[in-house]
Amino acid sequence: MRNAQAPLRERSRAPAVQIARPIRRRPPVSAAPSAEPAFRMASRHEGQATTVVMVAGVPIGAGNLVVIAGPCSVESRQQIRETAHRVKAAGALMLRGGAYKPRTSPYEFQGLGQKALQWLAEAREASGLPVVTEVLSPEDVDLVADYADLLQVGARNMQNYALLRRLAASTKPVLLKRGPAATIREWLLAAEYLLSGGNPNVVLCERGIRTFETATRNTLDLAGVALVKELSHLPVLVDPSHGTGQRRLVPPASRAAAAVGADGLIIEVHPRPDQALSDGEQSLDPAQFASLMTDLRLMVAACA
Ligand code: PEP
Ligand code: MN
Repeated sequence: MRNAQAPLRERSRAPAVQIARPIRRRPPVSAAPSAEPAFRMASRHEGQATTVVMVAGVPIGAGNLVVIAGPCSVESRQQIRETAHRVKAAGALMLRGGAYKPRTSPYEFQGLGQKALQWLAEAREASGLPVVTEVLSPEDVDLVADYADLLQVGARNMQNYALLRRLAASTKPVLLKRGPAATIREWLLAAEYLLSGGNPNVVLCERGIRTFETATRNTLDLAGVALVKELSHLPVLVDPSHGTGQRRLVPPASRAAAAVGADGLIIEVHPRPDQALSDGEQSLDPAQFASLMTDLRLMVAACA
């Protein structure tokens, strides 16, 4: 089913909404961390361009700001389908939605599992947007890979080495979120598990780390994004939704992420955030998302 997919640009007929910006060569890195032999495969060598990871026809790392949007959790067929159409109309190039949810409390909504994967795949067929969803455990990798175009390793699983080893053997690209307490070194070494195990299609994602600050859900480490762009050739996304935890902070954090050189954003959008089963308080509604996309387009054009 997925192999039969034509490239998104042919299917979507929506090139006008893409956010294009010039590809900048990163300066050679001479700082001590980059010289560490531990990052054998993730390091950016002098003059090396950012690796372009293709996700069902959508290039990540090619110079465009790739925006992925969708609900925290897939809640119904109608919810994910409606969201897909709304975010696509606003210019998103991929759809997100959780089927297996890593919740802090076992009493909170855990996701709808395979049924949600099926609805995600239907929303992809209806909208033409490739989908990203989280895989929680090694035994679910084959099932999730049957439905998804990009497999998300959630922050809580960044150092789940059994999962990383299993994903290293997958033919699907992987979105590796930074752990809430992971150093940049640990994050890049987690990427090494995927790369050295045979999967070259790795996209990093900064989603905020835990600090002494409690006013925001996490502390979005945008300086870390700029540093990782220097240290590594892998594309880096930013998740301003989990990074801030508050809807009104998502637009400024998104603009800042674009300004520090992120290759894309992954943003939670729900048709009715006040009714969301998870993360409603940090989700934009479709109109807010469309307005943010307009701002990002203007900003990227002004910086070109
Ligand atoms: C999510 O993407 O909904 C999620 C749970 O993210 P994280 O793993 O970054 O907390
Ligand atoms: Mn979420």
